[in-house]
Amino acid sequence: MSTNDITFASLNLAQPLMRAISDAGYTTPTPVQAQAIPLVLAGGDLLAGAQTGTGKTAGFTLPILHLLTAKPVANLRPGRPRCLILVPTRELAAQVEESVQTYGKYLALKSMVMFGGVNINPQMKALRGQVDILVATPGRLLDHVGQKTLDLSGIEILVLDEADRMLDMGFIRDIKKILALLPKQRQNLLFSATFSDEIKTLSDGLLHNPGYVEVARRNSTVELITQSVHLIPQKLKSHLLSHLIKHHDWKQVLVFTRTKHGANRLTEKLIADGIPAAAIHGNKSQPARTKALAQFKDGSLPVLVATDIAARGLDIDQLPHVVNFELPNVPEDYVHRIGRTGRAGSSGAAISLVDKEELPFLRDIERLIKREIPVVAIDGFVPPANLPAEAPRPPRQPNGPRRNNGPRAAKTGKPHQPPREGQTRHDGQGQKQKPRNPQQRDQQPRNGQPSAKPRPPQKTDEQHLSEAARHQAMPQPALFSPKPGVRRGR
Ligand code: AMP
Repeated sequence: MSTNDITFASLNLAQPLMRAISDAGYTTPTPVQAQAIPLVLAGGDLLAGAQTGTGKTAGFTLPILHLLTAKPVANLRPGRPRCLILVPTRELAAQVEESVQTYGKYLALKSMVMFGGVNINPQMKALRGQVDILVATPGRLLDHVGQKTLDLSGIEILVLDEADRMLDMGFIRDIKKILALLPKQRQNLLFSATFSDEIKTLSDGLLHNPGYVEVARRNSTVELITQSVHLIPQKLKSHLLSHLIKHHDWKQVLVFTRTKHGANRLTEKLIADGIPAAAIHGNKSQPARTKALAQFKDGSLPVLVATDIAARGLDIDQLPHVVNFELPNVPEDYVHRIGRTGRAGSSGAAISLVDKEELPFLRDIERLIKREIPVVAIDGFVPPANLPAEAPRPPRQPNGPRRNNGPRAAKTGKPHQPPREGQTRHDGQGQKQKPRNPQQRDQQPRNGQPSAKPRPPQKTDEQHLSEAARHQAMPQPALFSPKPGVRRGR
């Protein structure tokens, strides 16, 4: 039977779950559900390649709820959950626990969400009662273990959700500490969007004869998304974004910036231009993040400015526009970002604002997605005449944290301190990054000292600007031309 023929009825889930599925309006299982649910119900370990948006949460939540209900425990103790779902971010934790509640609403099981950045006391109070399913980020979970408010000795099922992102964020040491606290006999489910060597090492150590499921990655499903690039000097980007939002009357746009500071600055600029916007990133308080996200989802806030980590795992359906205010250093992040749009069969647009310095990133992305992203002329945008002076930006690091987190720690022997919620490291910023080529390597600080080698001369903002103005005067597809040798689509 192909996964397309599998119905929810054929999965033999308990009736209360079938009712909840029907209430949610689901008619057929998604491919990851069709494949994962039977494997989890059979009690085995599972390695699943699936991203947010594929229905993976129900793929593990439904069979877990079924298994826990089918095998009730005689003496449930407070603060001793039976299932632990570990996730990288607070938003994902809240979202997954919401799903547990949605699908488990006709069952007697109790769930709880646990993450940092909020008062620990309500969590401690909740742990004094029944908790069957705990959804947690690693840092706060270990805080509770340290305070002896949480007992992990009763875990029957462990889920590592978005395991790749947890490793990117430096959670490996926390994960290992947590694994050491769990009973040896248990079922393990590992979900990851990508399968790096680090994930393979983790899964080899964790999973026993796992079933294997992989569903189409967004890399291969980006056809629904209209992708385009506007070539524009960094300094003009915020002006262009305001122009695009106003000119096209965009109602819901998710904007990705590279840094938290950049997200704040852009948000202020948009608000000053009369465009309601809010930023979400690791330095924002949890209530502020939750509020901004809720307003963005219900359509009352047209622009949400986010860093990669904060936005990861957000389940925002049918987002019409995603803007890369800066291209990500790691090409896979581009795919994650634009995957926020064109979901559930709807079409969407992903627009990238690309400065000259970012052209190598653009090439990496195009190599990954195996297509060229057309450079599109900017319609009716006139750069402002007098731009206020800006503080010089630090040089851009060539690669993101994904490539060097674990291995670096392994090679240097230096412990890689995992971040805690609320710390800046959650956004993957401030991390040393692997140089792309020898010339760039020379630009990297060595032993914390700036390199003595002079950097090749770079264009100043003013030079970019005058170049931009010149290109504006001659109708060009972009505010500057890409480097020679970079083939561009139209
Ligand atoms: P996830 O990948 O778990 O974040 O799920 C993405 C979205 O798909 C969520 O909004 C779910 O409510 C929705 N979803 C999950 N399973 C199904 C299904 N079988 N049919 C339709 N929508 C679903």
